[in-house]
Amino acid sequence: MATHASSQVFAPGKVIGSFHPPKRILMGPGPSEIHPRVLAASSAPSMGYLDPVFVGMMDEIKQLIRYAYQTKNQLTFPLSGPGSVGMESSFVNMVEPGDPVIVMRNGVFGGRMVENVQRSGGHPIVIDDPWGSPCDPNKLREALQANPSVRTVGFVHAETSTGAASDAKTLSGIAHEFGALVICDAVTSLAGVPLLVDAWGIDAVYSGSQKCLSCVPGLSPVSYSDAVIDRVKARKDRAQVQSWFMDLNLVLDYWGETARTYHHTAPINSLFALHESLVMLHEEGLEHSWARHRLHHEAFKAGIEAMGLEFLVHPDFRLPQMNAVKVPETFAPGVEAQLRKRLLADYSMEIGAGLGPLAGKIWRFGLMGQSCSRANVMSCLGALTCELPEFGMHVKMGDAEQAALNVYNKAAQHQA
Ligand SMILES: *Cc1c(COP(=O)(O)O)cnc(C)c1O
Repeated sequence: MATHASSQVFAPGKVIGSFHPPKRILMGPGPSEIHPRVLAASSAPSMGYLDPVFVGMMDEIKQLIRYAYQTKNQLTFPLSGPGSVGMESSFVNMVEPGDPVIVMRNGVFGGRMVENVQRSGGHPIVIDDPWGSPCDPNKLREALQANPSVRTVGFVHAETSTGAASDAKTLSGIAHEFGALVICDAVTSLAGVPLLVDAWGIDAVYSGSQKCLSCVPGLSPVSYSDAVIDRVKARKDRAQVQSWFMDLNLVLDYWGETARTYHHTAPINSLFALHESLVMLHEEGLEHSWARHRLHHEAFKAGIEAMGLEFLVHPDFRLPQMNAVKVPETFAPGVEAQLRKRLLADYSMEIGAGLGPLAGKIWRFGLMGQSCSRANVMSCLGALTCELPEFGMHVKMGDAEQAALNVYNKAAQHQA
């Protein structure tokens, strides 16, 4: 035979068969665990992205995202891409070349916003706050007073790199006093802590499917107010939103209210999954989802503190779904990574490392979505109790679990 397909591109002797991922307990900064209902939805037979049945489901997804964000914004839909695409879409559409843009930076994702402003041709005016602290509203007010031509303010509601929450309502209010529009990163906050897009006056908001929504990764629910649409339509260089894929004027032909024409092939089966995860959120109820994240955080915190470990963030600004715990000073540099490796190898449990200036200084324990459960809290405290003595910490068997159990029992009494 003259030509035939061959596997000779593989290394000699290498056989590649089906991939069977091990079952993990996901307690890092995302992705979170996925409910069997959501996995089942994603494995349904695929269909066309203009099929009327599919289009009907798209409309339901839009309604369910409006519920999750507590908004009436027409322009509410999932972008095809991870949370970073939600971020980039907001900046490339709303920032025109030469625009001064204020970015509040108190962690990794504020830093990523700065890069987005630069790549959109804008001039970032960066307000820094310490990693682990919230964004300071007073600094925002001062910066807006000093820079009256600013039209856009970006900040991260829940900074996943540090576990700190910022006051999105107050920051939005200040930005509006000065006539600026707000871009709010809600990747980690959505469904985990209260987020009221309309009541707080947030103009542009984006999230990710794989954090507290516990869906498959790769989708970014966004919502844009009418003020954002007006801004995008009034762009001086409208035809030149530098990203073809993210240009809202074009995306709307597929996700808008009237037109349904081809823009790109929607990730059909991932959208089945998103629909199911949003249905599950609606069934649970947003307030109950927020309360569940709070409860399991309180129990986890009690256990962590019973072991003598400390949180990075002040209690007033702590995110329940993202717990940054300080690595004890007794750990030699690099040793903390061994604990993470041990948890993965012996307990099939993933936790997160610190990033940037916090690398080696904190562990990040996620309690997001389906991962936010009593079973996971107890497993994690048990695993830490077993492993920390190997690293020279004095931890008494049962103390952490008892402390967490007390929190659960007290909550159950309140309910009864
Ligand atoms: C995870 C995360 C992102 C990026 O989302 P991806 O889905 O990883 O692209 C952005 N902002 C925050 C606050 C995040 O936690």
